[in-house]
Amino acid sequence: RELCGGADGWMRVLTHPETGMVLSVGRDQYRTPAALRQLVEWRAATCMAPGCGTPARRCQIDHQLAWEHGGTTELTNLGPLCVGHHTIKHHGGWCVRQIPDSGGALEWKSPGGRRFVVRPERKVPVFRPAPDDDRTSEATAPF
Ligand SMILES: [Zn+2]
Repeated sequence: RELCGGADGWMRVLTHPETGMVLSVGRDQYRTPAALRQLVEWRAATCMAPGCGTPARRCQIDHQLAWEHGGTTELTNLGPLCVGHHTIKHHGGWCVRQIPDSGGALEWKSPGGRRFVVRPERKVPVFRPAPDDDRTSEATAPF
């Protein structure tokens, strides 16, 4: 356990307890692993900017809370944005945040104060253990 805990070659991977889908690699890796990217693209089929129809497979995967500000590579912090909207998000004066417990909805606030909410087409099933489940501390997931 000591050898594994201190080794640089290991990466923590959080998977969905029922489906085995990759949900997070935390701060271990900036680049979105293929399985997690696939899930992000399944959840939102197009760019998550208001009115944009660019297919997700042609988008960049945005870290809603930027990596350099402590953001993680996990489903609750990722969404597809086309190159143009990704640039606008970071340099256009817009405020963009993922709405907590919304299943990946993004709230965009324009520099002029207008608010837009963009919801993904699909929701990833939420796993919540039963209250009497003794594995609660191990099985609790933020989804
Ligand atoms: Zn776009």
